[in-house]
Amino acid sequence: MPPENKLPSKPFELIAGHPALDFVNSLDDRFTSPQERLRNYDDLLRFTHQSGLLTDRQVRKLKRLTTHLDAAEADPQPQPAAVLHKAIQLREALATLTYAWIDDPAATSPDSLTFLEDTFKQAALHRRLKTENGQLLWSWKGLSQQLAAPLWLLAQSANDLLTSDAILRLRACDSNTCRWLFLDTSKNHTRRWCDMKTCGNRMKARRFQARQSQES
Ligand SMILES: [Zn+2]
Repeated sequence: MPPENKLPSKPFELIAGHPALDFVNSLDDRFTSPQERLRNYDDLLRFTHQSGLLTDRQVRKLKRLTTHLDAAEADPQPQPAAVLHKAIQLREALATLTYAWIDDPAATSPDSLTFLEDTFKQAALHRRLKTENGQLLWSWKGLSQQLAAPLWLLAQSANDLLTSDAILRLRACDSNTCRWLFLDTSKNHTRRWCDMKTCGNRMKARRFQARQSQES
């Protein structure tokens, strides 16, 4: 099918309050019947763009880069499929660590930690320190010329989250079939659902039905 006849891809549901957690949620229904939302490099670009980590201009340039990718061995760019593969590995290491924390705060996951540490270090190699208005800032080197840009940005986003106090607000949706991750920034820290309109209402309806059947 020519690309112009393809149905437009559904936007990602960004409900987590942090790109790194929305990234973990991109494997939908992960504990019941997993649905992969990142099926190709374009999906990864769309996700990173929708999360606000890549600009319109950067995405356009990266897309152009994928269509002009020379398959010659001398090409130093990684193949889009290899970038996606590494991004999925990053996402799964993040998922292992975060769900372990939620289910058992004392749990450790040495393999995931090692993988995350390596990936965070690799991402950091693409940043440089610069001065701007008398301040020192980290910035990225040639993001739109690097096919691996979405991977580095997501790794840095995860690094920022995992090493900040915000991680203390990490929660998973109370629905056992959903378990999407989010940061509970509600005033009393009582948020239980990824989205009240979907999981919250579904659970309420289920409880109501259970009560009805007990009473009848
Ligand atoms: Zn949910």
